[in-house]
Amino acid sequence: MNNQLLLSLVEKYGSPLYVYDSEIISNQYKRLTKAFKKVKKVKINYAVKALSNVNILKLFKTYGAGLDTVSKQEVLLGLHAGFKPKDIVYTPNGVSLKEIEDVAQMGVQINIDNLSILEQFGHHYPKIPVCIRINPHILAGGNHKISVGHIDSKFGISIHQVPHILRIVENTKMKINGIHMHTGSDILDIDVFVSAADILFDVAKQFDNLEFIDFGSGFKVPYKLGDISTDIEELGEKLTARFNEFSKEYGRELTLMFEPGKFLVSEAGYFLASVNVIKQTTSTVFAGVDSGFNHLIRPMFYDSYHEIINLSNPDGKNRYYTVVGYICETDTFASNRPIHEIHEGDILCFKNAGAYCFSMASNYNSRFKPAEVLIHNGNDYLIRNRETIEDILRNQTEIEL
Ligand SMILES: *Cc1c(COP(=O)(O)O)cnc(C)c1O
Repeated sequence: MNNQLLLSLVEKYGSPLYVYDSEIISNQYKRLTKAFKKVKKVKINYAVKALSNVNILKLFKTYGAGLDTVSKQEVLLGLHAGFKPKDIVYTPNGVSLKEIEDVAQMGVQINIDNLSILEQFGHHYPKIPVCIRINPHILAGGNHKISVGHIDSKFGISIHQVPHILRIVENTKMKINGIHMHTGSDILDIDVFVSAADILFDVAKQFDNLEFIDFGSGFKVPYKLGDISTDIEELGEKLTARFNEFSKEYGRELTLMFEPGKFLVSEAGYFLASVNVIKQTTSTVFAGVDSGFNHLIRPMFYDSYHEIINLSNPDGKNRYYTVVGYICETDTFASNRPIHEIHEGDILCFKNAGAYCFSMASNYNSRFKPAEVLIHNGNDYLIRNRETIEDILRNQTEIEL
């Protein structure tokens, strides 16, 4: 990404600002589909929660992608963006039977991840096909908060409970059309992924009416120089061979599904903030920016590393800074980080700001959420207005006191 272009966007749209580059999103999508080109039927469902601006969803629609959703509201967004219900998979956790019924009525593919709801749903709607989320108990998360495959995880139905699933299917006569897993973000090891897939095949062959197997996501992308990232091409080779072999054994051409979020959008996003103040203490130089965990919470919530560059002084000498926000709580983006010399008023760029950044933003401290800009085919488009005080007050009802 061109630094001058990013700086000009801050001048045009103000700070702080989220900027997304559609070319990077499109390249990641192409990379993934290319890696699995030897599987006859492949469907990529973009995980909406990573970045849910409706224009981003429309972008994925132009690629022929589907959507992976985790709430009724994400389903409504997807339908608003023009997706057909059959191109949306709904994979909730801990939601009510009522919400699952509502989404099923819309014609969206339901994915159920607990025995209680499975039994109730099957009892009431034996004709609506459902997918089952299996927990293969593979520990693959990069951070304990986003690792969802272990034995005591709240996600998925344990592989040890497959006999129970089969009994529910037999009793209710419901139809299972898909088997799913999602073992958590940040999978480092392809062999871990492939062993989880093998476990899933073992489950899949016990169901007669499958149309697809959904391998979830968890692909890792580099956040800093030298980071390991998922070798999608190698995964493609290894999993394609196994999948095609399984399809043959199963006796029907199954669809291979994935539902990546981070892999598709993380590297396409840039978060731009300006430096309000440089403050020197006895041991530390703080750079305080016009943002905080209200706009980008990953460093504080997950200890995530986001590379930070000083767009305003690209040739400056490296100095060590602790980059903090303006929230009245400790909100440290980076500690003791070498960054080109920072002056007040400089614009800092936080990289990998496409996934789980804007979508996790809040109004804490009654701050406005930033504007979002999409760079597409050489043009820049404002895809979300910066908030105003009206947005903060919108749903507050004022009583006489
Ligand atoms: C969040 C989520 C994803 C996307 O995970 P990434 O690590 O962003 O690729 C996929 N599937 C389900 C069910 C999810 O909850």
